[in-house]
Parts: sequence; C-alpha cells; structure tokens
Amino acid sequence: MSKIQPLNPERIAQMAAGEVIDSLGAALRELLENALDAQATRIQVEIWPSRWQVRVADNGQGIPGSELEQVARRHTTSKLDGCSLGFRGEALHSLARLGSLTIQTRHADDAHGWLAAYNRQGELAHQQPAATALGTVVTVADLFADWPLRRRGVPPIAPLLTLVQNAALAHPWVSWQVHREGQLLLSLWPGTSLQDLLLQVLPQLDLSDLRYQRIQEGDSDWEVVLGLPDRLHRPRPDWIRLAVNGRFVQMPDWQRVIQSVFQHALPRHRHPLVVVHLRLPPEQVDWNRHPAKSELYLRDPEIRQEQLRQHLHALLQSGSGQASRRSVHLIRASKAKSIYRVSSLQSPALPAAGCSLPPLKALAQLHRIYILAEHPQGLWLVEQHLAHERVRYEYIQQHWQPVELETPVMLEGLSSQAMEQLGLELEPFGPNTYLVRRVPLALWSEDPKEIQGSLRELSRCADLESAQVAVACRGALRNGIPLTLEQMQQLLEAWQRTANPHTCPHGRPVYLALAEKDLARYFRRRWGICDRPISDSKLESFWELDPLGDRFAAQVRRSSSASASEPRDETRSAPL
Ligand code: ADP
Ligand code: MG
Repeated sequence: MSKIQPLNPERIAQMAAGEVIDSLGAALRELLENALDAQATRIQVEIWPSRWQVRVADNGQGIPGSELEQVARRHTTSKLDGCSLGFRGEALHSLARLGSLTIQTRHADDAHGWLAAYNRQGELAHQQPAATALGTVVTVADLFADWPLRRRGVPPIAPLLTLVQNAALAHPWVSWQVHREGQLLLSLWPGTSLQDLLLQVLPQLDLSDLRYQRIQEGDSDWEVVLGLPDRLHRPRPDWIRLAVNGRFVQMPDWQRVIQSVFQHALPRHRHPLVVVHLRLPPEQVDWNRHPAKSELYLRDPEIRQEQLRQHLHALLQSGSGQASRRSVHLIRASKAKSIYRVSSLQSPALPAAGCSLPPLKALAQLHRIYILAEHPQGLWLVEQHLAHERVRYEYIQQHWQPVELETPVMLEGLSSQAMEQLGLELEPFGPNTYLVRRVPLALWSEDPKEIQGSLRELSRCADLESAQVAVACRGALRNGIPLTLEQMQQLLEAWQRTANPHTCPHGRPVYLALAEKDLARYFRRRWGICDRPISDSKLESFWELDPLGDRFAAQVRRSSSASASEPRDETRSAPL
C-alpha cells in the first residue's frame, strides 16, 4: 500500500457537491426549494433532459445585485431565521461545481436586474445588468459534464414531475408550469388546500372519492387527505406520501402506521392513497439527517404517529354518508360514447353525519346473493356475505376478552406457539394434545366442535388481526342461502351500525348504490327531445345535450352547486 496523503481540496469540494446533487432531479429539487423559500407564488420549470439542463423561474423576492458575488460560495445562506425549508448553503455552490450555473434576478431594492454566471469554484465569473422582472431565474446546464459515470442515459422525466407535484401539494397557493424540451407538460392552478391540488395532480379522482381534513392541535397543524378504500387503491404504495413543514420525506415508520390503519379496509396487496402534511414549529424538526433533507429527526415521533393514526381512523369513519359513485360508473359504462361529464353527476347528499348510511328498507333477495334495498334517494344492492362479514368482524374485535368454558375443549396436532401468539393459553394434555379452558368471547359457542373449528382456523393465522378476519369470514352468512325479508332487514340494520360499512375486512366493497338522480338522468326523465342538430356553442353552454341517434336529448344545465336536496321543479324540461 502507498503512503497516506491528504486529498486535494478541489477533490474534497467536488465529492461534497456530488453528495448533495446526485441527479438532475436533485438539482431541480434544490432550485424549487430556493424558489419557495423566496416566497414565490408562480414557478415555471423548464427541463431539457437531453441537455442535462433545468431552469426554474420564480416571482419571489429576488437576490440583491450586491449579493450575487456570495450566493454560490460554499456554505453561504440568507436563511438563518429558520422559517424556510431549511438551509445548508450548499446547493448553488454544488450546482456550480457540477454544471454551468447562471442566475438572472431582480430584487425590489434594485433599480434593474442582473445576469450572473459562475465558474466551477462557485465564484462569480461575470455579472451584467439585465432587464428582468422581480424574481429569479436559475439555470443549470450541462450537469455532470465532468462526471460521465453519473450520466447513464437520458434522465427520466417521471421523478422530476413527482418532485413538482409534491412541491405543489405542500404549497397549494403557488401556480406551476412545467415544460419539457419546450413543450408544456403540466400546469397547476393555485388552490387553498392539499386536497385542491391533489385533484389537479390526479385528475381522474373525484372529490367524492376523497376525505380531507385540516386539524390544528396545539402547536401542530395537520392536513390529511385519503382515498375512500372502496373506491381507490393502488397496486404500489406510491401514493402514501408524507410532508413535514413543506417538504416530502421518507418516513418508513409512518408508512407502516398508515398501512396498518388500512390493512383490513383494502384488498390484499393493494395500497391506499394517503397524503399528509404536518406543519410544526421549526425547532421540533432537525433536517440534518440526510444531505437531500429527505429524512429528518422529529421531536416526540411516537406521539405524532399516534396522532396520525387517530386522524386517519376519524377520517375513515367520518361522513361516510355519501352514496357510492359506482352507480355513475355503471351507467357510464353502459353508454360508451356518452357525453356525460363526471363532474355534472354529483351523488346525492345523504342524511348528515352521525348516522353514516341512509335508512334502508329491504325489498327482495336477488340470486340469493344480493339484498335489494330502497332508501329515499335510490336503490342499493348489498352483498349479503360481505355485509355480514363486516358486522362479524367488528363484533369480534370488540368481544375478544377471554371467557371460561364449562367443559374444556381438546385440541390435537396444533402449534402451541402460534396459539400463544394470539393470546390463547394451551394446557399440555398428553403427546401433541392440549386443553383449552378459556376462549375469546367472540369464539364462544354451545357446540364444542364449533369452538374447535375456530381454534384450528386461528392456528393458521400469522397475527391477531388476520385471525379475527378469518373468524369473521368463517362464521359469516354464505351466499346461496335464502333469507326472509325480516332477516335481510336485520342484517341491513346491523351492517349500517358498523364503523366502516364501505368494505368487508378483506377490502371488497359491500354495496353498489344506484342514486335516483342518476336513474332519472339515465332514463332522461324531465329531458326534452330535440330533432334539429344543435351546433351553436352558446346553446350548448346552456343546455346539457346527449345524442340519441340522429336527435338530441336536452335539459337545462344546472349550476355545479346543485344537489339532490333542491326542489325537483328546479330541473325544468327543455321546451324544444
Ligand atoms: P440555502 O438555500 O441553503 O441558503 P443555496 O445554496 O440553495 O443555500 O442558496 C444560497 C442563497 O441564495 C440562499 O440563502 C438565498 O439567499 C439565495 N437564493 C437562492 N435561490 C434563490 C431564489 N430563487 N430567490 C431568492 N434567493 C435565492
Ligand atoms: Mg437552497
């Protein structure tokens, strides 16, 4: 081995820069954070992946001409007051080291703007006056020109878009535009909440698919949006996203909390949509865990996780009083070329929160599988096995306390370890044989065979929750069993009292709603028929039109705030 020698300072600086900026995305991330810290309300991003170039233009505070000399030097920052996304004073310096950095900017105190270019040491190479609007345009071109190993292929656009989406979700008052190679790719309008922006970022979502709440609790401020588990779930956990004080972060513990809340509301191997933004006083957050600030240390992480769990549970159970939109999709699917717009098909607002589902009246059993039920705003089909499974699951969860059996039950060939994991005590009784004297109340039955069956089922489960799901399923009413009207009514009522009636414990939806309003629309009740083709776009903005062969069905468009609670005669038929 050769002698130990000190590294040359240039090399050290370059290695440090490479740690902060390891991709084109990292460059974009730093530029976005600077723009947001400068209080921008309009941010334009231009990306040229083929040139390894990004440019971020903002309408923020701008940089005073006198400070341009300093900004790209190592460890210089103007953010020591602590109310920004956090500072390291390294980003611009690293960008200068790894690419070619230019800044065009104007600060309100300056009479005109400036254009500045930097060399690889982060020193100001050139500065000249330039006509510039208030704000800053930072361009990084030719990133990693000297680091061929970092340039494997053209950088993909998707992670860059995710960065912008996340920044937008956490700063909903900002408007955004993203261009790639000169073409507009994404444009987002300002809103007032995380939810407003989520609906723009995922335009296929409908407001009624989501639950949103903003909760102020002591010194913390939570924004939580979740997708209702019977309507939205994803094959990957890509939409479990968490932000703290304006920045999205990786927090595996929190991800686990979220997954556990949804565990028995979603089908197997599916993941929920949950976006959370927690705002805390800056002294409770330490960003110096990772150079990209993608991880953090938080004061009292367990307390915050518990708060998150409670907020999610509360939201999941809150105001489930909206009919499922599935009826709409059903109707839409039945008419491929429909001009119905989803936004014009609002589900009826059902009775206020408190009672989570509308009063249902059992009408008939269909195919010995579905209960057809009527309520004031429509018809529902309720799947009997799934509804009963949900009822049993919640009952079992609430009745897991042990009770003494009059005659102990004998079990053979079971793993005592598995049983003990579920909190059941087994008493050895001969080779490979055990006695059970106490069982959870939910498993109690007069028939010892029944208890044995349940215990056998349990011994195959990995944990308590899946054991409870298995017991719920095992005892639930099968499909194919005939029911009387009275039995159906009882089941409907028990099911309506459950905390989470939307899905069964495996995550399958329990009911399908057909809203009367959508039926009226489907059968075009209160619509007029028009023989002439209508081409006038003014007319179209006033009439809702629907092609019917060579004719049109038409009705007066209603304002978007219209709801089912309005008097019927508001919908006039078209005088055509
Ligand atoms: P940090 O953000 O950690 O302070 P940077 O190297 O990212 O470090 O930026 C250095 C300084 O340059 C910032 O503290 C800020 O004063 C200034 N600056 C950078 N980008 C902008 C911008 N878009 N608008 C206004 N000032 C900026
Ligand atoms: Mg910065």
